[in-house]
Amino acid sequence: MPKGALLVGPPGTGKTLLAKAVAGEAEVPFFSISGSEFVEMFVGMGAAKVRDLFKQANEKAPCIVFIDEIDTIGKKRDGQITGNDEREQTLNQLLTEMDGFDSSKGVVILGATNRPDSLDPALLRPGRFDRRIPVELPDLQGREDILKVHAKNIKIADNVNFREIAKAASGASGAELANIVNEAALRAVRDGRRFATQADMEESIEVVIAGYQKKNRVLSEKEKLIVSYHEIGHALVAAKQTESAPVHKITIIPRTSGALGYTMQVDEDEHYLMSKEELENKIATLTGGRAAEELIFHSITTGASNDIEQATKLARGMITRFGMSDEFDMVAMETVSNQYLGGDTSLACSFETQTEIDKKVVELVKRQHEKAARILQDNIMKLHELAKFLYENETITGEQFMEILTR
Ligand code: ZN
Repeated sequence: MPKGALLVGPPGTGKTLLAKAVAGEAEVPFFSISGSEFVEMFVGMGAAKVRDLFKQANEKAPCIVFIDEIDTIGKKRDGQITGNDEREQTLNQLLTEMDGFDSSKGVVILGATNRPDSLDPALLRPGRFDRRIPVELPDLQGREDILKVHAKNIKIADNVNFREIAKAASGASGAELANIVNEAALRAVRDGRRFATQADMEESIEVVIAGYQKKNRVLSEKEKLIVSYHEIGHALVAAKQTESAPVHKITIIPRTSGALGYTMQVDEDEHYLMSKEELENKIATLTGGRAAEELIFHSITTGASNDIEQATKLARGMITRFGMSDEFDMVAMETVSNQYLGGDTSLACSFETQTEIDKKVVELVKRQHEKAARILQDNIMKLHELAKFLYENETITGEQFMEILTR
């Protein structure tokens, strides 16, 4: 029997729940402790706690021991003098205990982490945490099922289409989905209704992802017009490249997160591979907002800062990590250090190459920006028509968008 298994995945995907469920299914006692609890102010306490934990587990065997955030004690021992002897002692104790206990007794240790790359290799050796269970973000079917589970706890209308909600909440984690259902219930109560409806669910997706509507913040007419053109610019560039509805809904009501508009993308079929063309199109779509501002108002605003960030990240990834430039072939110029926590990267190349990369990133984004501007120029009548609709109604759905576009 394996001694240890490591649950690896981004925050909020239910690693703790999964460990609990395993204990429940196996009908054995469940010990849970967080890695940070081991690291105390007094030297030696962490190691003592590990000893204590394993002593208890041995008495209660068969049982499951769950160590959350195991990276806090299991960080790589890099040989540098960091002054944190305590953590190293705790880790050593953990390793000793894991080797020491008899696997036939039936103690299984589950660890959870969202930083598997930072763990000490000694922890991952055979006989310790040698099994790795990826706990990824749920796909469409998974999201639908998770929503249904959480919806059992609230009063909800019979005709709610969970598939539609799951589609609109693409990229949401299990914890976020639970939050969406809860927000829908709160919204229903605030409005004095007896149960939550489809509209409650849809609004709460936006609340969870983009923040509450800021009722008291009024955009000036000019700003509203700019935001309308900006958001339609994104959508129109996307639609013209793929010939399909690019958005579920666009709203131009300010949110507490600071966003002035919100675009809910459709994510019809899930796919995990992206071609070079698709990535380029995505960059073009991101530049579409700014391109529309330039085309119509002949001036630019700060509204595109987030688009710029994302476009840069994509372009940089294409060149440094996906081997999609002509010159660098299949050489990695960057490595991802934190896959599950935002995916920070660190450069691994000479200064000369860095300069070269920067130039290529600019070139790539510029080319797509020009493409976006061309698309908008060619469809300027539709741009006016769609932006006018959004400006007047503050909301446009994917169907309305396509109806106007193909009219
Ligand atoms: Zn934008």
